[in-house]
Amino acid sequence: MYKNHADAKRAIVEAGKRLYKNGYVAANDGNITARMEDGTIWCTPTGVSKGSMTEDMLVRVDEDGKVLEGKRQVSSEIMLHLAIYRESPKLGGIVHAHGPGATAWASQGKPWDKAISLDAALHLGIVPCAPFAITGSRALAESAAPFCRQHTAVFLEHHGSVTWGQDVKQALFRTEVLEHTFKVYANMKIFGEIRLLSQRELDEVEEVKKKYNIRCPRAIGRDR
Ligand SMILES: [Zn+2]
Repeated sequence: MYKNHADAKRAIVEAGKRLYKNGYVAANDGNITARMEDGTIWCTPTGVSKGSMTEDMLVRVDEDGKVLEGKRQVSSEIMLHLAIYRESPKLGGIVHAHGPGATAWASQGKPWDKAISLDAALHLGIVPCAPFAITGSRALAESAAPFCRQHTAVFLEHHGSVTWGQDVKQALFRTEVLEHTFKVYANMKIFGEIRLLSQRELDEVEEVKKKYNIRCPRAIGRDR
């Protein structure tokens, strides 16, 4: 959650540059929002590359999506962001990206649940997949938003991922962990063995999650 507008706008523009630089969005893909303490939301505009976006392009809307500030048209995915903020009053930032790892996994329409690394177990746990619905639709917003209560991210089937956090930075970091996890997973497949954390190791991860108030369901580990 943001106290002042300058911080919120700067966080969105910085996150956009990192998403684009890392290849987690192409062309005009993706969208980012930041919620202010007064409940209004800064949002990326439609039709702009996140790599060349500037603060004056951003649009501020109220919690129903009515434009309060800004000259451009708000992102077509604003309904999804508003639905997520409505579900979880503590969230201050949301990132939607089309990263090649998350999008490839999302094409399978199933959750990610493997404790392949400390990061994956600690920050992702189990990531559900919202069934396919066309971008910008109410159906997409309604199916994806409820997952923010128990998870740190959701896949949109055949589309990409959405991550959230207390601010834009935490939401961005979760997108980065998600993509990094799939890079590691792809390398494990090349090496030929997918070896998961043990149950005892996962018990320790659960303790750390409790300490830092990270809420996501426990990932699947190996039994011995
Ligand atoms: Zn998208």
